[in-house]
Amino acid sequence: MFVTVALPLPLFRNFTYQVDDALTARARVGMRAVVPFRSRSEIGVIVEVVGAPDGVTAKPVAALPDTEPVLGDELLRLCRWMSEYYIVPLGIAIRSVLPAALGSHADPEPTRRTRRVAAVGVELASLVQRDEVFARARKQRAVYELLESLGGRAPVEHLIEQLKVSPSVLRSMTKRGLVTIEDEVVARDPFAWRAAPSPASHTPSAAQRAAIEALAVAGRGDVALLHGVTGSGKTLVYIELLRRVVLEQGQSAIVLVPEIALTPQTVDRFRAVFGDQIAVLHSALSDGERYDEWLALREGRKRIAVGARSAVFAPLVNLGAIVVDEEHEGSYKQGESPRYHAREVAIMRAANEGAVVVLGSATPSLESWVNATAGKYRLLELPERVGEAALPKVEVVDRREGGKGKREGGSGERDAADWLRMVVSDELEAAIVDRLSKEEQTILLLNRRGYAAFIQCAECGDVATCPNCSISLTYHRAPERLVCHYCQHTEAQRTQCPRCRGVLLRQRGLGTQQVERLLADRFPSARIARMDVDTTSGKWAHTEILDRVGRGEVDILLGTQMIAKGLDFPNVTLVGVVDADVGINLPDFRASERCFQLLSQVAGRAGRGPKGGRVLIQTRVPQHHAVRCAVAHDYRKFVEQELSGRSTPVYPPNVRLANVVFSGTTEAATAHLASSGTTWLHALLRKRPMPGLTIVGPAPCPVERIKNRWRWHVLIKAEHPRDLTRLGRYFLERFPVPKQAQLRVTLDRDPVALL
Ligand code: ADP
Ligand code: ZN
Repeated sequence: MFVTVALPLPLFRNFTYQVDDALTARARVGMRAVVPFRSRSEIGVIVEVVGAPDGVTAKPVAALPDTEPVLGDELLRLCRWMSEYYIVPLGIAIRSVLPAALGSHADPEPTRRTRRVAAVGVELASLVQRDEVFARARKQRAVYELLESLGGRAPVEHLIEQLKVSPSVLRSMTKRGLVTIEDEVVARDPFAWRAAPSPASHTPSAAQRAAIEALAVAGRGDVALLHGVTGSGKTLVYIELLRRVVLEQGQSAIVLVPEIALTPQTVDRFRAVFGDQIAVLHSALSDGERYDEWLALREGRKRIAVGARSAVFAPLVNLGAIVVDEEHEGSYKQGESPRYHAREVAIMRAANEGAVVVLGSATPSLESWVNATAGKYRLLELPERVGEAALPKVEVVDRREGGKGKREGGSGERDAADWLRMVVSDELEAAIVDRLSKEEQTILLLNRRGYAAFIQCAECGDVATCPNCSISLTYHRAPERLVCHYCQHTEAQRTQCPRCRGVLLRQRGLGTQQVERLLADRFPSARIARMDVDTTSGKWAHTEILDRVGRGEVDILLGTQMIAKGLDFPNVTLVGVVDADVGINLPDFRASERCFQLLSQVAGRAGRGPKGGRVLIQTRVPQHHAVRCAVAHDYRKFVEQELSGRSTPVYPPNVRLANVVFSGTTEAATAHLASSGTTWLHALLRKRPMPGLTIVGPAPCPVERIKNRWRWHVLIKAEHPRDLTRLGRYFLERFPVPKQAQLRVTLDRDPVALL
């Protein structure tokens, strides 16, 4: 017996092996096979049973480690589609579908872990108190403040890793009673110990009922776009769909969310209804634990998979529905090969397996909207918020005029009040004061990109940049250091400009840490929480912070984009957007769309309760259509204007796009590769013309260098998706990449960003 095996290697072909008689009884398509490859052994998956190969002798399969196939026919079919559409070897597509534990030889073994956890010992409410306690202990203060921003508890390992302090710092703090340290069993399923909320027993509104009924009669493979404004009760529609599919019809279902840790409330609601039918696949699971959940799903012990993008590959049979919540989110796109989009994979999988798909969003992606209005998807709308709540009043604070908002030039000393005014306008400040006096909550959005603090030489203007990436280093205060947000490169704060040897190094821009400090000075009695990449790399830190907000223990939540996601806190009556324009001018065709989505989503956090809500958007481009339409809650108008803006030059969804990126360790070799690649593509097109296909470039990528690799790119635009598949495949298989300067070519189909 002979079989072909797909191996997780960057080669566009499978390999044929012979199966010894002893193994033939077990060998089947979808089984893992350990096979010799060159001088090593590899684990692949059998994808076909074939006849004896001509002329060559096939090597024998070394072992079949499992008794059952790991990949069912349906998932294998999905892998074949991904391999073709995203132009990746089948073995690479398969690898991304299977749990990581199956990629190694060792038998997967779930693990139980304990960890050391530090907790705040004494509360130090005021800054004055802190200045005293930590007078000569800067590192202790850093630890204390990080711990605090993490909700008062955090793994010791995380603190040490984040702050690069030695364990002795924590020991001294324990001696002083500032922190306590204990052992904690790591929850297998961190959601398991969350108080299960009582199942919501809302009667569906008329609009919700209409959506639920439309889904009940949807055909197999149908896609519905649920366009519901923020707070319109989309979750209830998903739950009713799953109730029917899973509980009544005995089928299975998948719920995709952008990121589990950011959406604890959504997950809680599903858990409240479906209990332990649910497998929550989140990033904090170890490989072994993930494998455990995978088995539970495959064996039908659990029938609902909830998770981020890779949950779309849950090994469920008899699939009835797939929900893609916040379908517009960029995190559904995988950043490495295979660069799949979970929404598109979900639609393909559902079509193959006869399931219904619901794409939900208040701000659908232009792609999905166009498909819905063209009749490819069914459009379901929830135009109003449920209950008493109305959409919040959104106002613009124009930050254009006056020198107050300007930071450039001038070297006079500023006091804290001046700094604060650069971030928070008088209007916004007054609104915050008002909320504090009424004991209502405020959310402040600081867009990270613009609010990264950086260091600039006052004499020559040189900005401290990462040695590996072409972006500026971000200044961190606690502890003081410079960090690259692309590659995590870290260095000590500079004392001298490396270019002109000047010693006047100024900190420009304000980071979230600094803004937090300014707010704490201005509102000493307010309880402030900060949520950004620094406070949240502890796996459950997000959830802990959000729980505190939910319990009313936070007056002001300050954070980056991540606070814009599906939070539902009725006591939040004010949302402030510190700087709406950041990112609007990025060299990326989706910049306006992302800005509109962010503003609409974050505004949607306000006024979800009976007290109503107000949103203040500070901007220097109040006339920009992304800002104007977000203010007016006018999604359709935004789409209309944005779509016409994407016709000259043409961009998705008006055309199909692939981004071909050439990278390497030297600039010259990379530029040369990009230009020869482009010439190659043009030559191919002359030989085999493909009307409706254009090639743009080459040009350096907007971020020219990442992790020491130079980057150039070429865009391929096509009217017909098939042409893109053909050209892309031909190119990746045949274009010769010289073995020098670690040159590499990647192709990103349907890219979500071109940076
Ligand atoms: P969305 O995801 O559309 O922003 P959610 O699903 O989070 O909205 O629902 C917003 C809030 O409204 C939640 O607190 C939810 O429990 C509540 N809710 C949902 N449906 C109803 C209803 N029919 N009547 C009253 N409240 C509802
Ligand atoms: Zn870097």
